[in-house]
Amino acid sequence: MNKETVDVAVIGAGPVGAALACRLANQGRSVLLVDRAALPPMEHPDFDGRAYAIAYGSRPLLDMAGLWDRLAFTPCPIEQIRVSDGKPGQPASPLHLHFDHRAVGENPFGWIVEARALRVAINAQLRAEPRVILRAPADAVVTRSAEEAIITIAGDTTYRARLVVAADGRGSQLRTQAGIAVTRFAYRQSAVVCALAHERGHQNVALEHFLPGGPFAQLPMTGIEGAPHVSAIVFTEGHAIADRLAVMDDARFTAEVARRLGPHLGAVRLIGKRWTYRLSALHAHRYTAPRLALVGDAAHGIHPIAGQGLNLGLRDAMALAALIDQSDDPGTPDLLQRYQRARRPDNLLMLAATDGLDRLFSTDLPPVRLARDLGLAAVNRMPRLKRAFMRAAMG
Ligand SMILES: Cc1cc2nc3c(=O)[nH]c(=O)nc-3n(C[C@H](O)[C@H](O)[C@H](O)COP(=O)(O)OP(=O)(O)OC[C@H]3O[C@@H](n4cnc5c(N)ncnc54)[C@H](O)[C@@H]3O)c2cc1C
Repeated sequence: MNKETVDVAVIGAGPVGAALACRLANQGRSVLLVDRAALPPMEHPDFDGRAYAIAYGSRPLLDMAGLWDRLAFTPCPIEQIRVSDGKPGQPASPLHLHFDHRAVGENPFGWIVEARALRVAINAQLRAEPRVILRAPADAVVTRSAEEAIITIAGDTTYRARLVVAADGRGSQLRTQAGIAVTRFAYRQSAVVCALAHERGHQNVALEHFLPGGPFAQLPMTGIEGAPHVSAIVFTEGHAIADRLAVMDDARFTAEVARRLGPHLGAVRLIGKRWTYRLSALHAHRYTAPRLALVGDAAHGIHPIAGQGLNLGLRDAMALAALIDQSDDPGTPDLLQRYQRARRPDNLLMLAATDGLDRLFSTDLPPVRLARDLGLAAVNRMPRLKRAFMRAAMG
């Protein structure tokens, strides 16, 4: 059996693992990237209906990993965010919160990027990057000691690495194998995701409309041929309603979306499929073990209410890559400790904030409703606090 040495092995070629692998390769490191699934089918339009809100602060990693310029479709900038409270079929409460990017400078809050567009970019960059050895689909068996990690791929080469990175998502086997416990929160909610063509332009405004069943988001997207005005829709409902939405015919489903959206975009039409995701959150008690670092959803999963899950993962990748860049050995205990110190507080804060937001807005009790509407309106009149929120949203 052959034995090859690489600097870092990344297990999981989702957006976080793949972006990290490309960034490390860009820094001159040799990387083994393994995914148990084949990557080309992930480019298919039916694979993943998500559209990511990529925060302004996440772009540098995608730039430095060589991914931004390869995005298959032009990302749509988010220039304004409108947060409101309401009930389906009724107009949004007039006590809303409005953020305009011009209050904090020239840059947009971020961009809406289709998951598929990012996947096309990742696959193209991986093909072009000679320092990344890609094994997918493949199953890796990992053993670790204080000095190194050994990655064995059935019927293939055995690799030696100084660090193994678990980027294998929420069900991370590497995390379990390392005996790292997690705290989980099950939301009794599912997110229904689809793309919508509409009659009027969205003016690069993202809408977060809080409804009793859960948040409803309209995210501005770049238009396509035959549909100049397009938005991604992410709406959260209890499992029973979400399951009914998943199977109802297109006309009824579109009417349900329109009821939640309100009339501001004119007539709407569903484009393509709809997807349903069960929602949960988790946080790993540790992000490291000897020669192991957890990144992305393997370390933390949050409610999509603020569209921040992937952004946190990209920030993990950025922090880890920066530390590795300063060290000959990418997996020393000191480096791993510094990585955990750099990332856990930020991720925990976002987990608590998204969980709190969901709880606050998922209740329809009149006094709570009144208090939060007044709260939104009050914050709307506090320019300094609004600017602080806007900077946080930009990452
Ligand atoms: C409805 C919804 C909307 C969202 N919207 C946003 C948004 O707007 N903005 C945002 O920032 N985030 C958003 N998120 C969160 C975002 O999707 C996740 O945070 C992100 O996908 C995590 O990326 P990852 O690479 O860490 O993990 P994953 O995307 O889960 O990738 C893990 C990879 O590991 C592979 N794998 C798993 N196990 C193994 C194994 N044993 N061996 C080898 N490979 C393995 C899998 O095949 C997969 O390719 C949303 C989530 C949902 C559910």
